[in-house]
Amino acid sequence: MSDNPEYCIECGKPSTTLVMWASLEGPYGMCDFDTWHSVKNRNGLNMGPYSRERFDMITEKKELMRGTLTHQERVEALTELMPTCTEGNE
Ligand SMILES: [Zn+2]
Repeated sequence: MSDNPEYCIECGKPSTTLVMWASLEGPYGMCDFDTWHSVKNRNGLNMGPYSRERFDMITEKKELMRGTLTHQERVEALTELMPTCTEGNE
């Protein structure tokens, strides 16, 4: 189950949310509880409601960030991908 984003990487329940890290680890599908835990305790970034399309979009953009941005720039770039900013994304 660990590489299938449809199920929470921590507990195997159906994913509600995508979470990743500024280190470019992820995105992972997670349930509500593990999203909350990851964001609160592990500096995870809530990348919005789980969908295959969003997972693919984030994965694609992540590859473009790899090796080119500082940690802070990655945080800012990932923040821009969060749902309030991406509903109209092209
Ligand atoms: Zn979970």
